[in-house]
Amino acid sequence: MLKATNVSKSYPSPRGTLDVLAGVTLSLDRGDAASIMGPSGSGKSTLLYVLGALEPPSAGEVTLDGANPYTLGERELAAFRNRQVGFVFQDHFLLPQCTVLENVLAPTLVDSASRDSKPSPRERAEWLIEQVGLTARRDHRPSELSGGERQRAAVARALIRQPRLLLCDEPTGNLDRESADAVAALILDLHARERAILIVVTHSVALADRFPARYTLADRRLVPRP
Ligand code: ADP
Repeated sequence: MLKATNVSKSYPSPRGTLDVLAGVTLSLDRGDAASIMGPSGSGKSTLLYVLGALEPPSAGEVTLDGANPYTLGERELAAFRNRQVGFVFQDHFLLPQCTVLENVLAPTLVDSASRDSKPSPRERAEWLIEQVGLTARRDHRPSELSGGERQRAAVARALIRQPRLLLCDEPTGNLDRESADAVAALILDLHARERAILIVVTHSVALADRFPARYTLADRRLVPRP
């Protein structure tokens, strides 16, 4: 279970403190999927970073299955992120010199534990690449792929470690309508099978409405959307 309790986040700015989040509370169970909308600059990315162990809250608490990542030391925090959290950003951030397969495998290279896992990282990578429809592109580099294909590779990479939490920050924001629909369908479909906790930030009402839990970030708080 992902729990955010009274989470606030402020950044120092030349004109004083910038309060981005104030008293955000959220609770999602394994298998839950939520969308977050809100105007640009309202703090949606900040909230994902705080939930995803990338940015500590200024106040309040975040726990994933009871563990608060921000109590960990730097190395343990990095390991927590790598194992428990998958991120998909608006930009794919694939390594340009690596193939699709190598990019999907990259998160498994940082520790030896995953080498002995079943299925093996290689088997899981190939399965995920098949699920995202890129088997024929497995040995291609990102520059040889369309925008939609790159984003599908990024989704496969985010899921390689079977994260408990999948966070997507405007994953279809750079795509044309058709590719956007395909990537959105893929994320929802894979989520249904993987049973992680999925949170997607989006400007698309059509995409946001496909989620069972819907929120808007407004006035620094998360409010349910009908
Ligand atoms: P959104 O994703 O809704 O567009 P963001 O979370 O990116 O909003 O940003 C919310 C506000 O916080 C913005 O005013 C932004 O400039 C500010 N902000 C984001 N990250 C930082 C940072 N690291 N330092 C200072 N201000 C930041």
